[in-house]
Amino acid sequence: MSEEYDLETLAIRAGIARSQFNEHSEALYLTSSFVFKSAAEAAARFANQEPGNIYSRFTNPTVTMLQERLAALEGAQTCIATASGMSAILACVMGLLSAGDHVVASRSLFGATVQLFNNILGRFGIETTFVAQTDAVAWQAAVKPNTKLFFVETPSNPLTEICDIAALAKIAHRCGARLAVDNCFCTPILQRPLDLGADIVIHSATKYLDGQGRVLGGAVLGDQALLEPVYGFLRTAGPTLSAFNAWVILKGLETLALRMEAHSRNALDLALWLEQQPQVSRVLYPGLPSHPQYELAKHQQKSGGGIVAFEVKGGQEGAWRVVDTTRMVSITANLGDVKTTLTHPATTTHGRLSAEQRAAAGISDGLLRIAVGLESMKDVQDDLARGLAG
Ligand SMILES: *Cc1c(COP(=O)(O)O)cnc(C)c1O
Repeated sequence: MSEEYDLETLAIRAGIARSQFNEHSEALYLTSSFVFKSAAEAAARFANQEPGNIYSRFTNPTVTMLQERLAALEGAQTCIATASGMSAILACVMGLLSAGDHVVASRSLFGATVQLFNNILGRFGIETTFVAQTDAVAWQAAVKPNTKLFFVETPSNPLTEICDIAALAKIAHRCGARLAVDNCFCTPILQRPLDLGADIVIHSATKYLDGQGRVLGGAVLGDQALLEPVYGFLRTAGPTLSAFNAWVILKGLETLALRMEAHSRNALDLALWLEQQPQVSRVLYPGLPSHPQYELAKHQQKSGGGIVAFEVKGGQEGAWRVVDTTRMVSITANLGDVKTTLTHPATTTHGRLSAEQRAAAGISDGLLRIAVGLESMKDVQDDLARGLAG
């Protein structure tokens, strides 16, 4: 299934491959390996002369269904599913970069992504320069002769900073670098980075793609030829998505379009309410006219998405009071769930950064991130109002 179908349809039907039993719902293939009819067939499969499954580290029919569905949704030639969002980023980098290469990355990336680029890849001779997410001049200025990759997340976590994907792709391509976009917050329902000129899309399927907080998963998407070495890394090193998790995510995708619209609607509702609370000093949500990049977000995204960041007066004490007086909202670092979740980034997701790194990334002590779920927003407001009462 492809271009001729709308995203709502692709999310439900793309990639389905039925077995001899003609099952209606996607089958879960729990098997580590596959049997060959003959020595010749085994040889042909291993030599890539004949399509077919070999071993679930790199070929599994349930995982293939998920990969084809995600590729259709992102408008990508190919998709490589991985065990988690972080392993998708790792596979992408290990497949495409070598020691001596340079990366320009947003300093507003997910905490673990910053750690990966800074502390781990640095040890293997891949150097990263971090720049301000929204400053195109800084991205250009950070380029070196050995720059191979630009890496960005938009909207960013937790501040929902937007970067202009089309503009950044132009800068990257002028320098001979590729642009990778972590599309976790928007999903292809709200934003398709490849259409805007990006080369690679990264997903943490753990978030909205599953949508109900059940499993971990990830994906790398882009052109077949470009991602061949990424698939090679997965095949060899094995950060593979399990068939069971792929099956759960396939079922999650069936409601993705509906959920993303509802998450966005609820988040806008809550953001407007938060803006009126005297104890809240600032609300950051791409769907609010007060967002510094409202116009860009409106042009680049179908809607604002489900993540709202807000600053509470009274620093950490004020923020922790809001967290600790909730009775329903889940205190957890996960996001993209039907259940609303509340996080204090400075002491959790961004707790491993130094105080200077946090300040540079704009993570203040009073900042809270709410990943707005699908409950009644009146109940969520009541839950937050207690801690905001002062
Ligand atoms: C959660 C997250 C990741 C990492 O994904 P995991 O599945 O937890 O490994 C990467 N990027 C963003 C934006 C995330 O929110």
